[in-house]
Amino acid sequence: MFQDLRDTLEDVMRRKGLGRGISGPQIGVLKQAVYIIEDGQHMTLINPRITYSSPEKIRIWDSCFCYDLEIFVLVERPRDIEVEYTLPSGETKKERFSGPLSELLQHEIDHLNGVFSIERMIEPKSMMWRNEWEAHGSPYIV
Ligand SMILES: [Zn+2]
Repeated sequence: MFQDLRDTLEDVMRRKGLGRGISGPQIGVLKQAVYIIEDGQHMTLINPRITYSSPEKIRIWDSCFCYDLEIFVLVERPRDIEVEYTLPSGETKKERFSGPLSELLQHEIDHLNGVFSIERMIEPKSMMWRNEWEAHGSPYIV
């Protein structure tokens, strides 16, 4: 199952030149699992649960495999989070994340709860196509 998540993510990254994480429901696996590749580092999180969200917010241009990574929507998320999760080894961890990993994990944990980033769009106009996003310098966090 983790191998399927990893293979699918790596395939999308190759084809689209983008993508950093994937969740079970996106490949029809009804397991609470997330696979992340960020800065060459691989992480598998099972049953991740956000146990703390900072009051400070950040705004992110967010895309998704579900939009074929062609649409970017502006969303607002807590800047820092604390996540409790289980590793494939069975070990349970509690870890604090900020910056790109924080917003990425929030996106993937949303998937586990059936929430798409488009539902978190700040306003109806805060959306752009990938070519516009690239023309803006491909910002994630704004
Ligand atoms: Zn997604």
